Amino acid sequence: MSLLVIGSVAFDAIETPFGKTDKIVGGAATFASLAASYFFNDIKIVAVVGDDFPQSEIEDLQKHHINTEGLQVKQGEKSFFWSGRYHNDMNTRDTLVTELNVLGTFDPIIPESYQNCEYLMLGNLSPQVQQTVIQRLTKRPKLIVMDTMNFWMDIALDELLATIKLVDVLTINDAEARQLSGEFSLVKAARKILTMGPKFVIIKKGEHGALLFHEDKIFSAPALPLAEVFDPTGAGDTFAGGFIGYMAKVGAVNFDNMKNAIIFGSALASFCVEKFGTERLRNLTPAEIATRVQEFVTLSQFAVTA
Ligand code: AMP
Repeated sequence: MSLLVIGSVAFDAIETPFGKTDKIVGGAATFASLAASYFFNDIKIVAVVGDDFPQSEIEDLQKHHINTEGLQVKQGEKSFFWSGRYHNDMNTRDTLVTELNVLGTFDPIIPESYQNCEYLMLGNLSPQVQQTVIQRLTKRPKLIVMDTMNFWMDIALDELLATIKLVDVLTINDAEARQLSGEFSLVKAARKILTMGPKFVIIKKGEHGALLFHEDKIFSAPALPLAEVFDPTGAGDTFAGGFIGYMAKVGAVNFDNMKNAIIFGSALASFCVEKFGTERLRNLTPAEIATRVQEFVTLSQFAVTA
């Protein structure tokens, strides 16, 4: 009953109004698998790095019960590198550098021991690679969640649309939902995306929370108002990882469980932004997570009296 996570495992260099990092470990699959590890302990990762990627970082993933048999290390090649600079609002950023390196020729090989996974998280990667992973699984997982970004809409829209058709849940941010659908209203955008294949669409709105759409139902989750957002990098991947990790823990795929999964994903994302990169995600305790989830409940709970 495992959860398979694919996506980038990378080096990031980040600039925010609060500071700047040299190359630190990032990547969609790193954030997503770390987040999921707080809910579920049968996680397997398929990704690729170069020989510049520290072995200690791979061991750290293993300490979080993440199986790295499917993490390819390419000798003589460099890991994927991404660099971004956040604007003062911390909600928008410019990509400064995207060096695909090993990702440019990534062939996602699925180890035999990874077959029969029940949950699949397609983290941010080329949609062609995401689709190849689905095709290489001998049995379709019971839940496929896909994350993507504007980069792929700009350069590989046809492949992206073909992959979206195959998944159950698409997570996407507000600007990307507008770009993909051509609709400004997020309700209209989500309805249009629901006709493209996924049965559930989650629109992430950064500091304004997230919306879940399914058939004619909508659920709105808040984001925790934080006094300081230090580095939003990976918040979306962390959200998605927390979301699918929680779904794997509870098992039944339905709208009510997804509502809770969104709250748990949002809670993990609220930790992620407190420090640079994956730092805050490495040593969370169950008590910290429970307290944070309770803050979400208190934040949005109210009784209506007539
Ligand atoms: P997020 O802030 O959730 O959008 O995710 C940021 C993470 O995505 C960073 O750690 C990057 O390494 C990774 N990333 C950025 N661009 C890409 C890309 N084109 N393909 C795969 N991963 C990417």
